[in-house]
Amino acid sequence: MNIILLGPPGAGKGTQARMLETKYGMTQIATGDMLRASIKRGEPLGLEAKKLMDAGKLVPDELMIRMIDECISKGNCAKGFILDGFPRTVPQAEALDAMLARHKLKLDHVILMEVDEAALVERLAGRFSCRKCGASYHESYHRPADEGVCDSCGATDFVHRPDDRPEAVQKRFEVYRQQTAPILPYYRRKGILETINGMGEMDAVARQIETIIAV
Ligand code: AMP
Repeated sequence: MNIILLGPPGAGKGTQARMLETKYGMTQIATGDMLRASIKRGEPLGLEAKKLMDAGKLVPDELMIRMIDECISKGNCAKGFILDGFPRTVPQAEALDAMLARHKLKLDHVILMEVDEAALVERLAGRFSCRKCGASYHESYHRPADEGVCDSCGATDFVHRPDDRPEAVQKRFEVYRQQTAPILPYYRRKGILETINGMGEMDAVARQIETIIAV
């Protein structure tokens, strides 16, 4: 089964995608994570993207489309994929359709996680992750069980994303409204867009997604 999770920054797409990956064996394709990995490896692509990312702006479509094409072409999504962070523009959505047609794949569900923007600013400002394994935490809602030690790998070094600073968050919301929200009618017309309430507890949100994908 192939799914897209849509929603503004901080809606919880990554958290839900990871839960689906663990439970159903589908592959999470998270473009933001791929870009951050490229920055960490010091690749020219990552360094080119970093300036735009830190300012809360989008990376050019051609680059993102190529990245997804390479990923889908590798064919390691036997149990399906969950796209998290792609598509973010109408040209990306159109290019995705063309890619899927070429690989004889289809989209089963596009799920929009609806959230309250003001609450998201707080959610984003408080989030941090383990520098070593990437496990995510939040200062108010989800601290490591053992303070200062990652629950997943035991490392003690944590990082805040530069684009979670309030100025960058405002810019990312603006970009979402202007460039990403226009893809909603695109999927609505295809009859595969479903909306859930993304503001509840992680498990309550997951249950709504499971109800949709069970159909
Ligand atoms: P995310 O981790 O999904 O919030 O993405 C972090 C940043 O990576 C975004 O603010 C963009 O700068 C960049 N990015 C991720 N995915 C895309 C995409 N599909 N198109 C353009 N830029 C992207």
